[in-house]
Amino acid sequence: MKYAPVQNYINGQFVNASTDKALDVISPVDGTHLSTVPLSSSEDLANAVKAAKAAFPKWSKMPIKERVQVFFRYKYLLEKNLKELAALCTEENGKTYGESVAEIEKCIELTEFATSLPQLVTGEVLEVSKGVECRTEHVPLGVVASIVPFNFPAMVPNWTIPNAIALGNCMIIKPSEKVPLSCGRLAELLKEAGLPDGVLNIVHGDVDIVNAICDHPEIEAVSFVGSTKVAKIVYQRATHNYKRCLALGGAKNHLLVLPDAKEDMTAANVVASMSGCAGQRCMAASAMVGVGNIDHIINKIVTEAQKVVPGKNLGAVINKASKERIERYITEAEQQGAKVLVDGRKAIVDGKENGTYVGPTVIDYVKPDMAVAKEEIFGPVISIMRTNTLDEAIAIENSNPYGNAASVFTQNGGYARYVIEKASAGMIGVNVGVPVPREPFSFGGWNESKFGVGDITGKSSIEFWTKLKKSTTKWNPEAGINWMS
Ligand code: NAD
Repeated sequence: MKYAPVQNYINGQFVNASTDKALDVISPVDGTHLSTVPLSSSEDLANAVKAAKAAFPKWSKMPIKERVQVFFRYKYLLEKNLKELAALCTEENGKTYGESVAEIEKCIELTEFATSLPQLVTGEVLEVSKGVECRTEHVPLGVVASIVPFNFPAMVPNWTIPNAIALGNCMIIKPSEKVPLSCGRLAELLKEAGLPDGVLNIVHGDVDIVNAICDHPEIEAVSFVGSTKVAKIVYQRATHNYKRCLALGGAKNHLLVLPDAKEDMTAANVVASMSGCAGQRCMAASAMVGVGNIDHIINKIVTEAQKVVPGKNLGAVINKASKERIERYITEAEQQGAKVLVDGRKAIVDGKENGTYVGPTVIDYVKPDMAVAKEEIFGPVISIMRTNTLDEAIAIENSNPYGNAASVFTQNGGYARYVIEKASAGMIGVNVGVPVPREPFSFGGWNESKFGVGDITGKSSIEFWTKLKKSTTKWNPEAGINWMS
């Protein structure tokens, strides 16, 4: 085993979980046994909540301008340790080193946003009648929780940690049991940056800990990022227990390609979107709808996809089960009459035979009712459907239950605007394959890609991580009593 067993992080210390139950952590890159991750008990969670609750009065009373100083230092530490963090991310997740570098750079951008929060939460004050003032203040909630998925071991924790904590909350984070290592390093850097003990706590585990988080009476809010199936469970359970909850789910993102689209740029974007992070991004293009004759663009997509090589510029998928699931989707589509133009099944990387790789896969003549057209595959696979009109293409996009992202490739501004209006997704791209809003804009989908109000990052996150205190004060007694006061 390459690293020591993973431990929980409670009150600023790495501590063993109270159970012996643990899972292996295996690198998808080459099958190396990296570590073990404990399946913590509700007792471990209770200890973490106790530590967070104890830290809350002092942390929340500190002026926000002081709190964000921690994040200025954390940002510097992320920059200083970028290479090491990226290497760890690649090791546990399987994405390429370049993709991991981009992930840590995104953590830096997210932290940069958190340092700007004092400029955004100034509240409001108005003299509503002579001598009478109304004022609003953003007040932290207390102990909050963040449950995260495997596909961004560092970035998704940084969607929630900097904003929630800078806004005065104390947090319990539950990393994915598949990639538990990066989060521990982030906690170490935050401690080095001066974050007081107990403000951030890590409790490892799987289903049982997620359930315990949803049930714990002293956790005020739960954010979740993961599959739609689990997002629904978490949203229902947390809100059933009267908690605030924002649960981001899975996706099936459509690219609508018109015949006038710039050939080279479109092909490069389609392939980058479907194969980046081995297709394991909730913003990955997974379905493409070609309107009219787009054979010339599909030919280019094939050429571009053939340049994507597992183990070189394409990382691994998370585990064997995932590889098998992705390959099953491709085989089923082929059996149903779709045409596999580029086939990523049975990819093996020399010297990394125990890694779990799927090569880039382009499937043409997919019908809208096939599983590859409808379901999240979460692998480097693009399913191409063909329609005669833009409205038919939009109807296919609209009929999908998810709603994270959709993009259109065209040179026609009118068509682009039409797609922005008609697509049923929270994040729309025009000639952009992965339309992730950059800070200060917020990230969040629609439909079955998100449950709850608001978005998880950017300005929208302020509403999720705080509650408004409204005060009305009267300073001149001679103002007298009127109908309002
Ligand atoms: P997942 O839903 O399997 O797991 C997410 C978290 O939930 C993990 O921490 C896991 O331990 C826990 N969990 C798993 N099963 C559970 C259950 N039955 N009950 C309670 N908790 C459970 O997701 P994943 O496989 O880790 O991540 C991939 C998924 O996440 C994809 O569907 C992807 O689209 C989605 N995702 C969405 C976004 C977004 O912004 N919408 C971002 C990243 C990933």
